[in-house]
Amino acid sequence: MPLADVSQAHWRALRLHARSLLGLELADDDLQRFASFARMLLDWNQRLNLTGITDPAEIVIKHFLDSLTLMRAGASFEGLRLIDVGTGAGFPGLVIAMLFPGCEATLLDATVKKLRFIEGACAELGIHNVRCVHARAEDAGRQRAHRERYDIVTARAVAPMPALMEYTLPLAKPGGQVIAMRGKDAHEEIAEAARAITMLGGELFQIEEVQLPGLANPRYLAIIDKSKATPRRYPRKAGLPTREPLL
Ligand code: SAH
Repeated sequence: MPLADVSQAHWRALRLHARSLLGLELADDDLQRFASFARMLLDWNQRLNLTGITDPAEIVIKHFLDSLTLMRAGASFEGLRLIDVGTGAGFPGLVIAMLFPGCEATLLDATVKKLRFIEGACAELGIHNVRCVHARAEDAGRQRAHRERYDIVTARAVAPMPALMEYTLPLAKPGGQVIAMRGKDAHEEIAEAARAITMLGGELFQIEEVQLPGLANPRYLAIIDKSKATPRRYPRKAGLPTREPLL
């Protein structure tokens, strides 16, 4: 596949959309870092199959702008410990880490090749606030190093809501938040996960609607407060949250 480059015009469009949609002023440095990362993503994607989105305009909107919509949940991530569950090629977690150098970001995925890509990209771009963890979320959620250690837990396109709650809520500190990025059926999905949220120590705080430019359907941030400690029996062993979701 030929290597389409994401042009200056696409990044200028990102700056305008970030301003109007999120009130976010992206600096030249931010855009340059995003552009370098996008170039590496497209380059490595030819060998590694990191993302299905390869059209430059779509990369800017569906990967970068969509990741930035997390700012609808909080004006700044500076000083926070964030974990992005099922980060894939780094969306949304790496974009947030690039924008907030004082955000300590852990990018977790069960597929090691995507993490190797992220590590390579971070080394080349001089990004020092990111660490990659190769694990299943269900295993990380039982480990002392990760359980209830994070202020913010993010996830996009990883699992149905009830299973996703079992992946993410155990990782959030009491007082922290899970932000699940969902598609057009968010309201039904969240209703379906209501019991799981309560059982895992969470409480639905807010559903934020986001309309990305040029896309027919809105997207949603399901923002869930971690109000109580997660009972010790959760998460259950790897595979169970999807096979036998808490309903
Ligand atoms: N968040 C990225 C990638 C989505 S693809 C994006 O939106 O572009 C889903 C990713 O979740 C895959 O990389 C897969 O390896 C990971 N994943 C799925 N289930 C997981 C689990 N139980 N633990 C850790 N990672 C998981």
